[in-house]
Amino acid sequence: MITIKDKTFVPFIPADAIQDRIQELAKQINQEYADKQPLIVVVLNGAFLFAADLVKHLTIPCEITFIRVASYQATESSGQVKEILGLSESLEGRDLIVVEDIVDTGLTLRQVCAQLREKAPASLSIATLLFKPTALKEALDLRYVGFEIENRFVLGYGLDYDGLGRNTQDVFVLSEE
Ligand code: 5GP
Ligand code: MG
Ligand code: MG
Repeated sequence: MITIKDKTFVPFIPADAIQDRIQELAKQINQEYADKQPLIVVVLNGAFLFAADLVKHLTIPCEITFIRVASYQATESSGQVKEILGLSESLEGRDLIVVEDIVDTGLTLRQVCAQLREKAPASLSIATLLFKPTALKEALDLRYVGFEIENRFVLGYGLDYDGLGRNTQDVFVLSEE
């Protein structure tokens, strides 16, 4: 159990389950991109641990780059997306794998992907550690999903509450008490 500010979080997905699932996702990517050289586009800050662990298990040649967007305030989605920051390389003709921590409403990814597609990549797929299917407002083709979870606020392993709590090995969920 961890307490951050006024909120209590209880264990939800243990570190070993996360690592096992990441190895399965990496295996799938290794197979599906065997003849490609993808550009991994990591959406900061939330996806930093997921991406780091995922790419350690990739055996294909790949490039890794980092972008930043923001759409979330405290525990409620604001639905507002800022511009993509940090993208310096050309995406033309590249096979992109966008790596996210969590897809909630899907608004963030939909806007990010639309902006990336304007730069004429050959392909674009999405890898997200967590997915809240009941909250999905925007149709998205999520090719690699770590865990489908119920519509509750989670924290840890990259995900924050008000900037805190990213630095855990497990994922926690907001206590209902
Ligand atoms: P969406 O645009 O899909 O609604 O939200 C995307 C972003 O909101 C995620 O990348 C993440 O930063 C944040 N987010 C959504 N759900 C959660 C959650 O349960 N916990 C935390 N910590 N962040 C969340
Ligand atoms: Mg994110
Ligand atoms: Mg956040």
